[in-house]
Formats: sequence, C-alpha cells, structure tokens
Amino acid sequence: MTYLLSVAMEKQLEELKQQLEKQCQINQELQRQNKDLEQRLKDKEKLLQELQTQYHDLEFPSQTANEAEPEFRTSRAAVMAPEPIPENLEISRNMVKKTASETSLIVKAIQKNDFLSRLDDEQITMMVDLLMSSHYKPSEEVITEGSEGDRMYIVAAGELIVTQSGRDLRTLTKGDVFGELAILYNCKRTATVKAKTHVHLWCMERQTYRTIITNKSKKKREQLMGFLKTSRTLKDLNDAQLSKIIDSMEEVKFQDNEVIVREGTEGNTFYIILKGEVVVSKNVNGHQKQIRRMGKGEHFGEQALIREILRTATCTADGPVTCFSIDKEVFEETIPVEHLELFDDSKVMQEEQGPEQPGPSSSLKFKDLVPVLYQEGRYQGDPVTLGVGGFGRVQLMTTLTYGKYYAMKRVSKKQIVSKRQEEHMLFEKKILKAIQCDFIVKLHAAFKDARYIYMVMEFCGGGEIWTKLKEVGRFDEPVAVFCTACVVEAYSYLHKKSIMYRDLKPENLMLDIKGYIKLVDFGFAKELVRGEKTYSFVGTPEYMAPEIIKNQGHDFAVDFWSLGILIFELLVGSPPFSSSEPQKIYSKILDGELKFPLYLSEAAKSIISKLCRPRPGQRLGNTKNGIKDVRHHRWYSSMNWHKLRMGQLDAPTIRLIRKGPCYINFDKFPQDHSVAEEEFSGWDRDF
Ligand code: ATP
Ligand code: MG
Repeated sequence: MTYLLSVAMEKQLEELKQQLEKQCQINQELQRQNKDLEQRLKDKEKLLQELQTQYHDLEFPSQTANEAEPEFRTSRAAVMAPEPIPENLEISRNMVKKTASETSLIVKAIQKNDFLSRLDDEQITMMVDLLMSSHYKPSEEVITEGSEGDRMYIVAAGELIVTQSGRDLRTLTKGDVFGELAILYNCKRTATVKAKTHVHLWCMERQTYRTIITNKSKKKREQLMGFLKTSRTLKDLNDAQLSKIIDSMEEVKFQDNEVIVREGTEGNTFYIILKGEVVVSKNVNGHQKQIRRMGKGEHFGEQALIREILRTATCTADGPVTCFSIDKEVFEETIPVEHLELFDDSKVMQEEQGPEQPGPSSSLKFKDLVPVLYQEGRYQGDPVTLGVGGFGRVQLMTTLTYGKYYAMKRVSKKQIVSKRQEEHMLFEKKILKAIQCDFIVKLHAAFKDARYIYMVMEFCGGGEIWTKLKEVGRFDEPVAVFCTACVVEAYSYLHKKSIMYRDLKPENLMLDIKGYIKLVDFGFAKELVRGEKTYSFVGTPEYMAPEIIKNQGHDFAVDFWSLGILIFELLVGSPPFSSSEPQKIYSKILDGELKFPLYLSEAAKSIISKLCRPRPGQRLGNTKNGIKDVRHHRWYSSMNWHKLRMGQLDAPTIRLIRKGPCYINFDKFPQDHSVAEEEFSGWDRDF
C-alpha cells in the first residue's frame, strides 16, 4: 500500500516536474519575446527618428545643394567670420536712398526669408538703408560656385539662373533673396548665379552687416549699463554683475494706454524704459492723480526685485513704449541678494593648487618623431592619419627610442594666413602649453618649418566620441553622464582661467585608453575678461548659441549652451537643431524650440532645457552659483565628482573602446600627397 502510494506520488511528482519545466520554458520564451519586443521598440524609435529627420528635410527641401563633403567623413565643419569689426564705420556715408516701393519690396523679401525675418525692426530698417544698388548684363555671373562669399543679394528687377555643376536649379526673380549665408561668415558658394536678363540687385557686404549689428549691440549694452548704474538698488553691483543682469533681461512692448504696473498689485518685475513715455499715477480719494512722467533710461519697480511689496503707483504707457525687463525670480537666480559672489571656485579645483608645471617637454626633438604606418587594409604602408579638421591633419607618430605614441597636428602656414587664423593658432598653442588638466589634451612640443606648424600632443588612443556615437547610434544615460561630466570639469578649469572653449562637439572629444574624455582643438578658444563680451562669429553651426548668430556679443555662457546641445546629441544621436542647410539650423536655434524624443528621462530633459535657455543670463552654469549648479543638477546625481577628478571612477565608456592596433579606434584616411606652399611673412615668430 505504501509502495503503491509512493509510486502514485512519484508519478504525480514527475508530472508536476514536467509541468514546471514546461512553465519554465514558456517563461523563457516569453522573456525572449519580451527582449525581442524591447529591441524592436528601440529599433522602431530609431527608425522613427530617422524618418522624422528625413521628413523634415522633405518638408523643407534644400534650394541650394549642400557643400560637397569629403567622401570618407560627414562630420561638421566649424565656421567663422575672420574680419575684425571696425569700431567706427561711417554708416551715414554708405546710405543709399530708396523709394517707397523699393523699400516695400526689400522689406517683403526680408520677411519672406527664413533667416533674415528674425532680424528686429531696427535692424531691418538699417538693412534697408544700407543695401547698395548693382547692375548686371545678361549672362554676367553674380556668384561663382566654389568661391568664397562675402555678400548677399535681393533681386530688384530682372531674372537670374541658378546652376550647380552645370545643372540648372531654378530661376530667381524680383523679391528673391540669395547668398544670405555669406553675411554671417565666409562660406563657400554652393551654386553659380548668372544674370539672364538685365538685372538690378540690392546687395550687402558681410563687413557692413556685421559692423552695424555689432556696433548696435555694443551701444545698446553700454546704454543699458548706464541706465542700470543710476538705480539705487543696484548701485553696489560691479560691471560684471550688471552685465549679467543685462543678459537676463528681455524686451517687452506696450501699446498706448496699456497699464504696465498697477498700484496695489504684487510687484515682481523691474523695468527700464528704452523707448516712449510712461505716466506714473496714484489713487487719491478715488481719483487717479498723475504724479510724474518718465522717459527713456528711467526705470521703475526696482524694489520689487529685493523685497515683497505691493506696487505703490500705476505706470501707464503714453504712446507705444518699449521696456527692458527682468523678473524677480530671474534676478534672484542671476545675483545673490545677500552675498555678492559670482563664480564658483570654492573647493573643487585641485589643478590650481601647487605650482604650474612646465609646458611641453623640451627633450622631444622633431627629427626623432617617425610616422606610424597602417599595418593592413587598403592603406597598408601609408602613414596613419587620426583625423582631418578644417585646418589640418592629425597624424600618429612615435619615437624609435621610447616607442611612445603622439598625435601630431600639422597645419599649412599659407592656409592659416589666407584664412586669417594667425591669432587663433598662436593662442591655441599658448593655451595648450599652459594647461595642466586631465580633461584636456596635453601639448608635448611645438615645431615649425617653412610650410607647416606642428603641435605634438599626447595621443588619445580611444578615438573620437563622434565615431563611437555613430557606431552605436546613441549613448545610454550613464555613458552620456560620464562623458559630459568630464566636459564640465574641463570647462571649470578653463573658465576659471577666463578661457572660453567655443567649439564643443563630439568631434572634439577624444577618449584616452581608460575611457576618460579629453577636449582637443583649441582653435576657437579665447580669453575674456569677466563682464566683457566678444563679437566674433565662431563655432560649429549646430552648436552655436543664439547670441552668436545674432551678433549680440557673447561670453562664457555659450559654452553652457553647447553643453546642452552635446547632452542632447549624445542621448539622441543627433543634435536638436539640425538641417542640411546652415540657414535652417540658425533659424531653428533662434526659434529655440526643443523637441525631445519620448525615451528621454525627465532629468535629461530638464538639464538640456536649462542649459539651452535663449537668454544667456538665465542659462544653467551662468547664473549666480555658476558651474556648481550644473554639477548639482539631478541628472548628475549619480556622479561622484571628486572621484572623477581623481581618475578613480571606472569609465562606462570603456566598452566602446576596441582592442587591436593602436589606431583601431579611428577612421582610416588616405594619405595626403600634396605639399603646402612656403610662407615667410613671419607671423609664427613666437610659435
Ligand atoms: P576643426 O575642423 O575641428 O577645427 P582642426 O583642424 O582644428 O579641426 P582638430 O580638431 O584639433 O583639428 O583635430 C582633428 C581630428 O584629429 C580630431 O577630430 C581627432 O579625430 C584627431 N585628433 C586630434 N587630436 C588628437 C589626439 N591628441 N589624439 C588622437 N587624435 C586626435
Ligand atoms: Mg576639431
């Protein structure tokens, strides 16, 4: 009986076991399907994103085709306007009188244009005044494909034909704008424009455009500074702080009779009058009694910035009024009310402690450096090129005695002179030589000969972040957090030395063998006194802050903008403002609308939005606690900043680095057989 029972039990047990196994199998299958689904979902998201970009390009088809890119690479080139801006340009001398109908044609053309329509009324008026008249005969060329552009045109009368590599693209007629990118920087013309009939054009040179816009911005800042200095509440602030306030302020317009502040209501905005008149009145026994009038440069509501108060009078616009304003909330973020300190540098920077170490090691000799050669593949036997930038080529070198690797950047002196980059080159070397930061590439030595200058840097064997990003599509959060935290450390070091970097992008971020990030390429870095602005047009279109595009003058805040763009690009795989046409990129940046894919975390969206605020004074990193606010943002909550600085964190980027020949983490480039012309003007005396 017991035997029978146990047999029955055993049978039951066996059945149960089988059932369990089956269940396990089903579970496994389900899990696999789940994973599959997850993967498919990810793939779909990626596809969706690609389609969105494609859709966008379809929706806004390019009218002129893109500049031909080298076939081996599609990374983005940096751009700049090299000319210095003259302090005083006799604008009135260059004015060209226009009839009412001419003016209306020009204004309509500007309003129709994606980029120009963003200019403000005053800028448009100046543009109208300064456009010059020019005439062309049939079949005369106005623009030649491949040449460098320095002016834009509006068709006043006649017809022109646009061709590219001999192919007809389209016809231009009255009211069309062309070549407008050239007023921002010296871009290569992507098409030829030829007159078909007799043609009358309105044209403007870049130098004129930049000068008027820049000088106007400068004047406006100086004027605002003067206005702010008359405020009693703000009298203790220094110029750098006042400049920050200006960066946070916004222009607001009021119509005739509009009430700007109302007596008895809660006040939280401070206003400066830029244009028009304001009537101040008080309620006396139920009647509005006018107390005084205020005009340009006068301000009201300053008390509201520092304490909780109710408005003590009503201010009404008398005719159209334009004010510059700042809200209490923003003001508090900009200037700490009790202790007026501006910049975070308290406990964090070990690099600053201890004496400066000597610059490039003097023992390294040019003749000891030999190129490393490709060991296999189609370029076998050729020297290894690590990267090709806008100015030069970076080659992998070694020394026979020590077998250590170096990255050597070689730039043609002739090209530097023709692109007016002498100052940038000298500064790049000067900065790199002085820098001792683990998050910035080290310069070991610098050399020159009749044709080239050479910078011998530490070799970052892990490759470019750009390449890695293209390989995997997009980074997961821990990798993006780590990469950008390294950038924050590099920024902290540079900004403390009053240096702006100005060319952040994945192409300029290199990985060392440990997976730590280093900034390379200091061609656009610049030293700037705090509180001052610079007016150059530099950067890479996708990463440019709105104030650079608007020529409003910029400072350290542009680096925080580009940090936001970088975080976005690393997490998403492409930057937030992109297009195959630079004009479109600029328009999108000026519109400033960030569209986040669904998979981005709340924290990521928050830090990107705060870094990419259009007003530089409101940008995370550039408000009262400085870079500390970036470190403390919750997106970085998992980051141990101290350990990062000490190099004690295991880099999550390590899995992106391939093992093999030392150049395995780099794209391969064909050898450059050309030899640059000699150049003897002597600009490189101190190089
Ligand atoms: P850009 O067009 O960005 O101004 P550039 O001519 O100034 O370019 P860099 O950006 O300095 O040149 O370098 C070009 C490329 O060379 C980099 O993107 C990178 O791939 C490679 N490179 C530069 N420095 C190093 C380095 N220290 N180690 C390894 N590779 C490097
Ligand atoms: Mg570069």
